[in-house]
Amino acid sequence: MGHPVLRAKARSVEKSEIRAASMQKLIDDMLDTMREYHGVGLAAPQVHEGLRLFVALLDSGDEDDDASREPPEPIAIINPEITVVDPVVVEDWEGCLSIPDIRGLVPRAPEVRVKGYGRDGKRMEIKARGLPARVIQHENDHLDGVLFFDRMTTFETLTFMDEFRRYWAKDEDE
Ligand code: ZN
Repeated sequence: MGHPVLRAKARSVEKSEIRAASMQKLIDDMLDTMREYHGVGLAAPQVHEGLRLFVALLDSGDEDDDASREPPEPIAIINPEITVVDPVVVEDWEGCLSIPDIRGLVPRAPEVRVKGYGRDGKRMEIKARGLPARVIQHENDHLDGVLFFDRMTTFETLTFMDEFRRYWAKDEDE
């Protein structure tokens, strides 16, 4: 937080740029960074590239009991366009790799549809509900220079991770 690119509107990626080695390497680097920091999403401006692109791990978390379940493959979405499917607003906890060690309750739409390009340059469309829908909205906000603080209606729940674990984490298990 503080790098100007995080507050700028990112530019669209040209379709001809998607398959370029430099773009594929950027996507691989973003996936590595997301894994390394145990994130569920990472947008290009977070690695100081002002491009409309993010990677995400869209895991609903609904089937945690099923140990045999394969973890989902992370995806890359280029030039995403989001449509809200369910306009009801739901609050839940968010953190951000660009704002380390802090969480807060953020209102979001519970269900969205996202259209864009995959890293293979083909059109893609995904419908997501729950946590994946939240991740998509959070990452898409990064492409417009918006951080999760900006979406909070009050800062009362802004919490350091130590205090989150101590006072709030039981909320998360519900
Ligand atoms: Zn973030």
